[in-house]
Amino acid sequence: VVNPAAVRRWLDEFTRLIEAHAAELTELDAAIGDADHGTNLQRGTTAVREALAGLDSETGVGPLLKTTAMTLISKVGGASGPLYGTLFLRMSTAAGDSAALDGAGFATMFRAGVEGVAARGKAVLGDKTMYDALAPACDALDAALAAGSDLSAALDSAAAAAAQGRDFVTPLVARKGRASYLGQRSADHQDPGATSAVLLIQAAATALG
Ligand code: ADP
Ligand code: MG
Ligand code: MG
Repeated sequence: VVNPAAVRRWLDEFTRLIEAHAAELTELDAAIGDADHGTNLQRGTTAVREALAGLDSETGVGPLLKTTAMTLISKVGGASGPLYGTLFLRMSTAAGDSAALDGAGFATMFRAGVEGVAARGKAVLGDKTMYDALAPACDALDAALAAGSDLSAALDSAAAAAAQGRDFVTPLVARKGRASYLGQRSADHQDPGATSAVLLIQAAATALG
């Protein structure tokens, strides 16, 4: 079940993965953006760790996700800050004041967040953004749960689908964000935001379920 302790483990693991991959994320962004995606997210997730450590241990799932959202919005900046912020804010709203979520509840909450990213960024599949990793992860999560997998196995499927989505758009031309300014020269580069989105789902697979 996804209770407050599990949400904290998820965000801890995401922070750890961002730290471990910050240089790689910034290098990807150097090729088709402005070389700050790793540092942006590292600043944000470090601030999230501090903000959550300052919250009472009784803090529920919804409020934990809301503090995460607000911290990412204020600390990450750029395009990805408001987008990751929206993801967590919509998840927080979907979680409401439930004490814990089961697999189906987590999947519903996650989809609400991902739909928020698409709405906020006006991104569709194939635009070569974080949405290209997040949307297939949602679908894989639902499919695995519907087929009877437990949340842990379903999140493993979701992480694999996210990585496939990230790789699928690597050859494509970016149609959103800074990379789109490069036109054809954005093709054949892995998208930084899709790469960090895979880390978020890998962190969920490690920490939840
Ligand atoms: P910035 O481009 O402002 O420096 P970042 O480098 O932190 O911001 O994040 C760049 C990533 O944000 C891109 O790789 C892409 O995945 C994502 N992104 C940019 N614009 C959009 C959008 N409109 N919708 C969804 N994702 C987007
Ligand atoms: Mg950037
Ligand atoms: Mg920037």
